[in-house]
Amino acid sequence: MAFNTVHLQDQADLLRRGMADLRAEDLELAMLLDAEVARQHRTLSLVASSCAVKPRTLAASASALVNVTAEGAPGKRHRAGCENVDLVESLAIRRARELFDAHYAGVQSHSGSNANAQVLSALLEPGDTLLGMAHDHGGHLTHGSPAVFTGAYYKAIRYGTTAEGLIDYEQVRSLALAHRPRIIICGASAYSRVLDFERFRAIADEAGAILLADISHIAGLVVTGRHPSPINAAHVTTTCTHKQLGGPRGGLILSGRDAHTKVPGLKATFSRVLDQAVFPRMQGAPAVNMIAAKAAALGYAMTAEFDVCMGRVRALADEAAYAFQAHDYDVVGGRSENHTVLIRLRGDMTGAIAESALEGCGIVVNKSRVPGETRSSAVASGLCIGTGSMAQRNVDADGCRQVVDLVCRVLNQVTPLGEYEYHFEPTAQAQLRTELEHLCAKYPIADYWEH
Ligand SMILES: *Cc1c(COP(=O)(O)O)cnc(C)c1O
Repeated sequence: MAFNTVHLQDQADLLRRGMADLRAEDLELAMLLDAEVARQHRTLSLVASSCAVKPRTLAASASALVNVTAEGAPGKRHRAGCENVDLVESLAIRRARELFDAHYAGVQSHSGSNANAQVLSALLEPGDTLLGMAHDHGGHLTHGSPAVFTGAYYKAIRYGTTAEGLIDYEQVRSLALAHRPRIIICGASAYSRVLDFERFRAIADEAGAILLADISHIAGLVVTGRHPSPINAAHVTTTCTHKQLGGPRGGLILSGRDAHTKVPGLKATFSRVLDQAVFPRMQGAPAVNMIAAKAAALGYAMTAEFDVCMGRVRALADEAAYAFQAHDYDVVGGRSENHTVLIRLRGDMTGAIAESALEGCGIVVNKSRVPGETRSSAVASGLCIGTGSMAQRNVDADGCRQVVDLVCRVLNQVTPLGEYEYHFEPTAQAQLRTELEHLCAKYPIADYWEH
């Protein structure tokens, strides 16, 4: 134990020296890195996916594992020198299985998009049909957008939401029965209601399709029991690790009760096909330091502290929805059931202008399309507000109302002059920016870097 502690201390010294070396020998880069630390402290992110990693996760990602090349799986490497990374990867897999209650977990995917690409390329032949949620209705680009390979290599059919912004399950079913897709993808990047995974599975079974659930946005709510889990409802589940899970940039591939059943039309089981989907099919050596960071984040996600934080994520979303409604904003679907609140902007105010004006005051948030959208997606008519960062900063109900109040005051002060151009009195902007910085100081990113 003492021996290990000495080595971790060496590692800490090395990191400190690295910081000092950057300052002394590469000031250009050091200044950019410093500026980003300052930006994260002095701005408030309302981006639905945003999350700061815990120090332990940061440390694991910067560990000596960064030097190891380890193609293959634990115990089956194509390289020597993997005795420790084998244990690290096995630990990450064990934690992922335990946290999600999954029979199968793959932890090597470099990102959530990669995980989706790997699953699709393993289960579909080029030209096969997939059914996914349209990007401009809240789905992810990898779910069949024409801009992405999934839309180019597969015949992508897309479902959307109703005028109230809810997934139209009847439409999903009729499209599934009409087109008989090989796979149906459920999961979204901008959707504020619960996903009915059982209903998706019933549709998939009726249409003879495989069901893939992508829970990148809601994984933290899922593992703390605040959103139904898709692990057994879907054949395969993917998630990125850097959104609600608070981990490093990366992806996970999971499977529940179907892990050891045969993939329709193939001789192999899901777990076997999924293993090969990553290496050698789509990736070479995994980023083992990131796998260690995933293990750290997965370990943290099992703690009571993480559970409390996810409780706050939900409570703040309710609070934010009420607060926007109190300011007479239309909340899409009338409420939130997860971490996001979609609001419809009023009059000439566009999403592009709101995003830019708010960022000028230190509030970082993304524009979003809304049901019945009349503007292009680059302009859009709504904002997608997420509560993850507020929850990590320990923002309480009162603080949340102050944040919403500030957002509304910024929007009231701005005069749109077109889709992108606007007038914003510089003194008013400076005043609002100062207020936001006070709020950030009141609710600091406690566990993050000191600046
Ligand atoms: C963010 C996201 C992903 C993956 O993102 P990466 O940046 O590639 O890790 C995948 N699916 C959904 C629904 C997402 O929101």
